[in-house]
Amino acid sequence: MDQRNVERDFWIEQLRLALSVIVCAVVFAVSVTWFTTADLDTHSRTHALALSFGLPLAIVPIAQAMAIRLRLRLLRLHLKFRKLANSDDLTGLANRRSFTERGAAQLEASRAKNSLSGLILIDIDWFKQVNDSHGHEAGDETLTHVAQTLIHAAPPDALVARLGGEEFTVMCKVKDIVALSRIAEALRQATESTCLIYRGEVVRVTISLGLATGRADDTLSALLSRADKALYDAKNCGRNRCTLAA
Ligand code: GH3
Ligand code: MG
Ligand code: MG
Repeated sequence: MDQRNVERDFWIEQLRLALSVIVCAVVFAVSVTWFTTADLDTHSRTHALALSFGLPLAIVPIAQAMAIRLRLRLLRLHLKFRKLANSDDLTGLANRRSFTERGAAQLEASRAKNSLSGLILIDIDWFKQVNDSHGHEAGDETLTHVAQTLIHAAPPDALVARLGGEEFTVMCKVKDIVALSRIAEALRQATESTCLIYRGEVVRVTISLGLATGRADDTLSALLSRADKALYDAKNCGRNRCTLAA
């Protein structure tokens, strides 16, 4: 759930809670006053009942607003830490931890719906040379550039993550292996055809991709391991290519 939806649900829940507390406080105060002022004269009793109605109505909303303000601050802090824990700080993509959690959930969901999950493991070719020729900072910018290229070229509902170093993954629901190959080829072409200009120098990279689709009894790590073997083959066959797992 994204931050806006979490906050919307928070407000709905808090307003419902605040309203219940206000109603309870008023009902309680009026009931207690009603039973304890039975022997007062009408004027004093009316006065006491008006106070028992008006005071909680004035005080409880203020207390509730202060409590909601504090809870909202805690919620925002929680969302901030959750984002930090799940995203890669260089590229902003999902990190390995987030991928492991969301990837396993996606695999489970496709199994339940009898649909197919496709996984593409991606490694930048000769990346060490980028660092060696242009410097580590240029290497970092290249990683961000490749991350953005993958995000834009991947299907909108795909899970795009950086697993570490110069290794990325794209996981998405696909109709069949042909559809997955088409997506992988689009990622490869998008990376090959764009470049990064770093301090006036052109930095161009290509990627190798290993493809695998989920089987009925697959775990995420089994799927990753097949995609990894395919990636290894793509590297051995000359790089800048997509290879399907056997
Ligand atoms: P191959 O085509 O076989 O994948 O060759 P490669 O050079 O891409 O692979 P290799 O494993 O030899 O080198 C990976 C390099 O990636 C080495 C490491 O310094 C660099 N690297 C890993 N993480 C980062 C990072 O966060 N920033 C930068 N700038 N470099 C990184
Ligand atoms: Mg690597
Ligand atoms: Mg590499």
